[in-house]
Amino acid sequence: MSSGSASLMWFRKGLRIHDNPALEYASKGAKFVYPVFVIDPHYMEPDPTAFSPGSSRAGMNRIRFLLESLVDLDLSLKKLGSRLLVFKGEPSEILIRCLQEWDVNKLCFEYDTDPYYQALDMKVKDYASTAGIEVFSPVSHTLFNPADIIQKNGGKPPLTYQSFLKLAGQPLWASSPLPVSLSSLPPVGDVGYFEISEVPTVEELGYKGYGQEELSPFRGGESEALKKLRESISDKEWVANFEKPKGDPSAYLKPATTVLSPYLKFGCLSSRYFYQCLTDVYQNVKKHTSPPVSLVGQLLWRDFFYTVAFGTPNFDRMKGNRICKQIPWSNDDELLAAWREARTGYPWIDAIMVQLRKWGWMHHLARHCVACFLTRGDMFVHWEKGRDVFERLLIDSDWAINNGNWLWLSCSSFFYQYNRIYSPVSFGKKYDPNGNYIRHFLPVLKDMPKEYIYEPWTAPLTIQTRAKCIIGRDYPAPVVSHDSASKECKRKLGEAYALNQKLNGQVSEDDLKNLR
Ligand code: FAD
Repeated sequence: MSSGSASLMWFRKGLRIHDNPALEYASKGAKFVYPVFVIDPHYMEPDPTAFSPGSSRAGMNRIRFLLESLVDLDLSLKKLGSRLLVFKGEPSEILIRCLQEWDVNKLCFEYDTDPYYQALDMKVKDYASTAGIEVFSPVSHTLFNPADIIQKNGGKPPLTYQSFLKLAGQPLWASSPLPVSLSSLPPVGDVGYFEISEVPTVEELGYKGYGQEELSPFRGGESEALKKLRESISDKEWVANFEKPKGDPSAYLKPATTVLSPYLKFGCLSSRYFYQCLTDVYQNVKKHTSPPVSLVGQLLWRDFFYTVAFGTPNFDRMKGNRICKQIPWSNDDELLAAWREARTGYPWIDAIMVQLRKWGWMHHLARHCVACFLTRGDMFVHWEKGRDVFERLLIDSDWAINNGNWLWLSCSSFFYQYNRIYSPVSFGKKYDPNGNYIRHFLPVLKDMPKEYIYEPWTAPLTIQTRAKCIIGRDYPAPVVSHDSASKECKRKLGEAYALNQKLNGQVSEDDLKNLR
């Protein structure tokens, strides 16, 4: 065993002080605590070839949100007598070098089920065990430990929400209040030969000239997360009556849901603390909604996808994924580019894709519409391609939840009613007949009369001229005809489902080619 009396607290997600069992354990009985964050260039290095600013993996909004969250964490640590030590490089190599240089006897970090962290953690844990360093890696990113649920279910993840609920029951920790604050932390020890830098700015990471684009309205960090949480739960009636999927996806001035997902993604907000705040509200109202539609129900959806993702090999792809229907998706790069770059000619779809690029967040039903349009609704493009675009541009981009929802929306898993397709015209109109959402995110259409705003190609030329928007010149004509494209998609899905059933899911590459 290492003889030191110092702990290394490795922050990755879990960028918070409240409900942070790894940080609490790191500080217990320690003379020094080294709070470390490693910036992985693989995720953060600018990619000049990407279609929008950012790295190849992350758009600018998420990079900025992460840096803001680190600045906030550093400030909170400083208030407790500590600070954040920021490094840049391959995380496992840096961690091992820190463990070699500092006299550390405890390594603490939040457990993570994402494949990226599973691989990284294995390397670091291997080193720690040979060096006699204790590793403490508690589950605190989710309400439940996915491995426990899978074990209760005989080694397989539950594949429906209802079966997940039955297995999960009440979380054990929920009966006593979670630790919400720390009064102090042991100081940082001698850092040896390392040069420690402050949290870098986006410019210092190499993003020059950034700032021309409209900025996402969401600021990163635990302080902002707790403020937003307080705002959300202050309206007890709203919390008690929350019902999803009801709610207006076009509401952008005051979104219909909490917009806490970016904070949950980075762990600026503990999902367990959020859950406890919600159950406190429920105890003080006469009646409230229940899962799957309630707010607690939304957190349980999150845990559901984490559990299935953790227990399903190749969850993030079609091939080799036993819960995914094998469908002969097309790889039409032109259609994909039109969708990604908001050039489909359907204003409702394009406005949502602009909101994704500019804000890094859209309402759940807006995500439904564009995911359906790209895949089984209109374009028949592979869900993995759409998943990649979301993965890069969403601030809340989350491996388990994003893949799970793309599997769902493409009718590849969980949901199979492929005849139910979102209309790119009438769905948005139901909520926003005047098209205010479209006018905001697609200003080129701002003067289009409301009769034509969802189908501008049907406007007579005189109206297009008056609206200063000629279809085909200022805004594209539709790249597909929804009526015929959606019929063709249903036909192809029907054939693919029949083949999957006949072959019990064992569909070969040749079978798929024959369906194309
Ligand atoms: P609220 O309605 O206020 O819900 C509170 C929290 O519950 C959310 O922050 C989120 O953590 C969780 N939650 C809500 N809905 C879901 C859901 N369907 N599945 C799992 N958890 C849920 N959410 C992500 O956090 N990251 C993603 O990468 C992501 N990708 C998606 C991709 C597609 C194609 C679709 C259809 C949905 C995706 N979602 C994703 C789920 C959902 O749209 C967002 O979680 C939600 O819109 C976030 O807004 P909110 O915080 O206001 O949600």
